[in-house]
Amino acid sequence: TRTPLMSGNWKMHHNHFEALATVQKLSYLLGGRDEDLGVEVSIHPPFTDLRTLQTAIEQDDMPIALGAQHCHWEEKGAFTGEVAPAMLAKLNVAYVICGHSERREIFGETDEWVNRKVLAILANGMTPIMCCGETLDEREAGGTDEKVAGQVRAGLAGVSPEQVGGLVVAYEPIWAIGTGRTATPEDAQATCAVVRATVAEVAGAEAAERVRIQYGGSVKPANAAELMAQPDIDGALVGGASLDADDFAQVVRFRD
Ligand code: 13P
Repeated sequence: TRTPLMSGNWKMHHNHFEALATVQKLSYLLGGRDEDLGVEVSIHPPFTDLRTLQTAIEQDDMPIALGAQHCHWEEKGAFTGEVAPAMLAKLNVAYVICGHSERREIFGETDEWVNRKVLAILANGMTPIMCCGETLDEREAGGTDEKVAGQVRAGLAGVSPEQVGGLVVAYEPIWAIGTGRTATPEDAQATCAVVRATVAEVAGAEAAERVRIQYGGSVKPANAAELMAQPDIDGALVGGASLDADDFAQVVRFRD
């Protein structure tokens, strides 16, 4: 059985003061370490908040893992503006999102870059949350499965079956991101099943059984439970609804 992973992707929101207040409230609403909710939680703030949140999470033993939204694949060098995986690992970052559709669409990230990042994140002892998903045009043209399977195959190239089993794939239909338009639980399940089948094809049945697949795209308190009830959905990658501690706590507590 796979432990669900509920991840808050803050995108470009919350300075380090706002970040601190938000995780303090979130930790309280999750019952701190006293309550076992049977889920893992990660928060992915802007880079400038990481050190502040690391300190808070460790000092107060919050039930929250630290995450990042992005990194470069190189270890060091002349890459102005970039952050190396080892720098994140040094802050006890556990999960790193890579290949988010906003990075792909706005900043031109390719499948090949995403693959290099997956390998670099793993090499530094962290867990990738590798994103995939189709545009509305691709969905309407019947190309969803092909697009998503292609992104998964490319992103996982050269990753050992053992490592594939330990990572996270996030399925985020691009038309559902920030639009308030969620995929139906049935549609989300169908594509997450395609992700799992593709993982089986590239890394074997054991890896496919272990890999955690998140759904992302307008997840909120009102729809988290029905999405999480799907057999191939093992968590959520939450944007807007993760910015507010009350909303995100309700998503995390989808079983309540
Ligand atoms: P929203 O939850 O705001 O739709 O964002 C989804 C997302 O892109 C998370 O990575």
